[in-house]
Amino acid sequence: MKRCVKLRCPACGETSIVERPFHIRHHCPVCLSLYKREDGFFVGAILANVVTTELVILVFCFFSLLVIGADYENVLVLLFIVAVVFPVAFYHHSWAFWLGFDYLVEKLPKYKQYRSQH
Ligand SMILES: [Zn+2]
Repeated sequence: MKRCVKLRCPACGETSIVERPFHIRHHCPVCLSLYKREDGFFVGAILANVVTTELVILVFCFFSLLVIGADYENVLVLLFIVAVVFPVAFYHHSWAFWLGFDYLVEKLPKYKQYRSQH
């Protein structure tokens, strides 16, 4: 979990999973854990991003309306801004959490093994 928050390799924690902004590495240069596997693997990262965005919007909405008692139309404008900005800002972490989840469930395959099988 700590490695996910810091955007480090979920297997070894030695390197960042981010190659450059909005580009996730193909595999870890230290432990060779594969980050980008078969086609469609990225859907899990999108799912993590969508679910987290929805939760943030829900919490923000309830907090604004029920705790602060803000005006409904102002809250809608703020929610729209959050809905547009948050998924972009959360892009790298959605990948980190998806890879961390995959690592816990079935371990990440190594790049060399993957190459010899495909
Ligand atoms: Zn690694």
